[in-house]
Amino acid sequence: MWIINLIFLLFFALCAPVLSYEADNINCFKVVYPRSDTSIEAPSTFFVGQVNAGSVLTCNGENVRVNSAGFFAHVVPLHYGANHFLLLNSDKDKETSSSLNWTIVRKSPPKPISPNELKIEVQKPNSDLGITPGNIINFLVRATPRSVVSVQLGQHQITLSSAKKGKQSSNFNVAYGKTFQPYELNESDIYKGSYCINDADHFVSIHPLYKLSSRNGNLTVSGKGDISTVEHLYEARTTTTPTVVRLGPGLARTTPLVEGVKVIVDGWSGDSMRCVYSSNRHVWINKQSLVMESEKDLPQAMHKMGKEVSENTAPQAVAQTINVIEDGYGEKICLPLNERLPYQIEQKINPNCLVMRVYGVSADTDWITSEPQENDKDGSIIDHVSWRQAEDNVYEVIVYLSGKQQWGYKASYEGTTLCLNVKHPPLLANDGTLKGLKICLDPGHGGKDSGSIGCSGMAESQINFEIASKVKSCLESYGATVIMTRPSLTDGPSLEDRVKIATDNAVDFLVSIHNNALPDARDPWKEHGTSSYWYHPQSIELASTLKKSVKKNSGFIDLGTRYQNLALARPTAMPAVLLEIGFMINPDEFTKLIDPRFQSKIAESIADGVKEYLYPKPETK
Ligand SMILES: [Zn+2]
Repeated sequence: MWIINLIFLLFFALCAPVLSYEADNINCFKVVYPRSDTSIEAPSTFFVGQVNAGSVLTCNGENVRVNSAGFFAHVVPLHYGANHFLLLNSDKDKETSSSLNWTIVRKSPPKPISPNELKIEVQKPNSDLGITPGNIINFLVRATPRSVVSVQLGQHQITLSSAKKGKQSSNFNVAYGKTFQPYELNESDIYKGSYCINDADHFVSIHPLYKLSSRNGNLTVSGKGDISTVEHLYEARTTTTPTVVRLGPGLARTTPLVEGVKVIVDGWSGDSMRCVYSSNRHVWINKQSLVMESEKDLPQAMHKMGKEVSENTAPQAVAQTINVIEDGYGEKICLPLNERLPYQIEQKINPNCLVMRVYGVSADTDWITSEPQENDKDGSIIDHVSWRQAEDNVYEVIVYLSGKQQWGYKASYEGTTLCLNVKHPPLLANDGTLKGLKICLDPGHGGKDSGSIGCSGMAESQINFEIASKVKSCLESYGATVIMTRPSLTDGPSLEDRVKIATDNAVDFLVSIHNNALPDARDPWKEHGTSSYWYHPQSIELASTLKKSVKKNSGFIDLGTRYQNLALARPTAMPAVLLEIGFMINPDEFTKLIDPRFQSKIAESIADGVKEYLYPKPETK
């Protein structure tokens, strides 16, 4: 989540209006990042901007590295509070000079509570909780140092211990794949403790009471949020397609569900409802994507509503047969059930298979049938299908695929039959061209979202669009059908809409084209290059092939093929890749990125990469 937040903050910061100062018509002098008077958490940041080519720039007397095109980047350390910078630009040829005053505020760490203050600040828990026996509630408060701090929870009194006594984890954040500590943690005022719920606990919307006694007096503070024990399990149904499913409140995603899937709710944390998949698997779904079988209001006083279910009602469905049917998308594995039950899908490349785990199902599978195929059986994308009872009430369908590659999949319900659609390979003319290939290109950002800002102030959205348009021409010249997620420079469809365009058009590939930036505390002169991103294993090889091809032509450093949780890499219906060609804030890469000839070279390399993926050379396969 931090990654997402920080990337968002970074883009937000980089989207700031470009501040420039024109000393006269001839002298160009602009700082495009950071904004003056901006507030930054990190211990350092960097100036990015443009001066006239050949001029000399200093920052507080230190020489700033300016490239031959006049673009610069310069790292500056920050102390807490206001940091003042004087940027002096002198153009010796024209005998002009100009200056800019810049102030950057580094956020100071929160002041520790003084031993003379009487204070409790509750940090955790900070939202409503629905809990069951065996669950642990963790308490975290900041309070007057050298006090006795406890929490009253129903009849229980839990003494919190001062964090100073034990070794504490640091308060690190993550930005662009690396951790950093925004400030040294002051632990003198931190108290922690925990309580494990037992069978005898019956809490109905209680507030924890925090009590402090110190030499200065006593204080009692009520906690944030209600705490209730969940006395029964409740049935709910998903209301949206897709319903986002997470492994913890606000944590990583797992297979999204379609609407109408029955889940059993056994707890909550704030707006996240905890759903039971099996005896050792819980997932979390936002309450807005769920409707209770009998009541719509959640989670207030949930203990009184909902259709109660007994823990002994499992299994909820019996799997008797698996049918394999051909359709326009590819082949469809159908599992008739009498309920829409939750599922997770895991993709593996070695062995090449899809594992569909269905929760609440027991096996009585006597048949796996496939329709007689009109086409030659050799052309089948499925090698064979098998099943197993992975654990009580967890049924697995394993789809072994022919060949080494996968071309996409999607899960859906038709009535109460669970279907796993496996995509066929692109229907190529097989003449070395891309005739028959349908590809979706996504020029990143657009509309109000300019993405990152380059040294000259040019928006990433523009460069992405220019490159993507050239890729489109190249691919079309090879015979491919190309669908663009944004047909013009000014369009700015949402991330969801972009994915929908690719999925609805049943394209063979989705390639999102971006250019990169760094968060604060990094160095644009040191970290730059070409990288590609994947989310599902089916996209790794395409990501790697495209990156290699781009890297070869860009001459940029190879930053690798990386896993990242990105909306445009998340669709499963086709291999989906996000490419970061170069860095907008690296002066030398930016100089190339804005050159139309360089853009054409990159576009050709992407189209060539697609070709290489579809027609691999014998030695590489
Ligand atoms: Zn971008």
